[in-house]
Amino acid sequence: YRRPVTVTVTGAAGQISYALLFRIASGDLLGPDTPVRLNLLEVPAALAATDGVAMELEDCAFPLLRSVEITDDPMVAFDGCSVGLLVGARPRGKGMERSDLLEANGAIFGPQGAAINTVAADDVRLLVVGNPANTNALITRANAPDVPADRFTSMMRLDHNRAVARLAGHLGVGSGEVRRMAVWGNHSSTQYPDLTHAEVDGAGVVDRLDPTWVRKDFIPTVAGRGSAIIDARGASSAASAANAAVDQVREWYDGTEGDDWTSAGIVSDGAYGIPEGLVCSVPVRATGVGYDVVRDLDVDPFSRERIEATVAELVAERDAVRAAGLI
Ligand code: NDP
Repeated sequence: YRRPVTVTVTGAAGQISYALLFRIASGDLLGPDTPVRLNLLEVPAALAATDGVAMELEDCAFPLLRSVEITDDPMVAFDGCSVGLLVGARPRGKGMERSDLLEANGAIFGPQGAAINTVAADDVRLLVVGNPANTNALITRANAPDVPADRFTSMMRLDHNRAVARLAGHLGVGSGEVRRMAVWGNHSSTQYPDLTHAEVDGAGVVDRLDPTWVRKDFIPTVAGRGSAIIDARGASSAASAANAAVDQVREWYDGTEGDDWTSAGIVSDGAYGIPEGLVCSVPVRATGVGYDVVRDLDVDPFSRERIEATVAELVAERDAVRAAGLI
């Protein structure tokens, strides 16, 4: 066994965490040789429910699970944290203005960023799942100035996986055969699932596809999948969101296979004209250490328009949290 790694999960009593924690404790996140210490953060009202989840974790007798700590204090939860999965967020309530939502999330991710800055491990890596994920990651980073920019990511892997699965289904191939999918921008309905570079069996597929299917079916179906699941299930996606979080962190550590790529929300360095500092999804290769942006892709006029629209939404969110003094 290697040394135990501290994994912090916020919103630990929520639906996503209920699917996520068992995957982490079983070794799916960090592999079969890495013991895990779980630090669970919740709001005071949900601490009792978190106790219940911890009892179930105990009852699994996972060999890799070394400890479970439950707290409502970010300074305790992020102490020694190497992997932080920021799942808990304030959902948009009835009659809630956008500014109220941003304020509420500022009050959550600001103090968490400050705690991460002070007490997290030097090798900390962070994945923000709670919505609006990209802007919550931006707030977290602004409050953790000593943590390098490449440690902050937002979850785009669920959108990426949805795009891969949709294309595979359409072509009648396995999901594992689709490569070089990309999802750009915000984890919202403005996201741009981009299959212009996608390959099956090493060959591009876009020329084989009906452009009307791409624009009227593929893109809106992927971007609207979250709402479709809420309509069908009566609750938002949870197991697939947890699975995507595991996929994204696992690939971040292991590196991307061969010359494939994936999608992740990362702090922009200005690539593709995306304003520097914005947390925005781009096609990336995980190197095992960090992410390299896949640069110099041809962006056709339709794609350019879609990317600009989703980036504009992220800029508006950034400007709103800036105006509210949250960053
Ligand atoms: P979920 O576990 O279902 O969702 C958690 C967050 O993930 C939400 O912000 C949700 O956004 C977001 N999310 C991102 N991608 C997806 C996706 N593809 N599908 C679904 N959700 C996605 O929420 P619950 O309400 O069940 O649980 C949240 C928990 O967080 C509660 O127990 C609450 O007490 C806790 N919490 C903890 C905080 C803390 O630790 N300090 C702070 C705030 C809340 P969306 O709302 O848009 O679906």
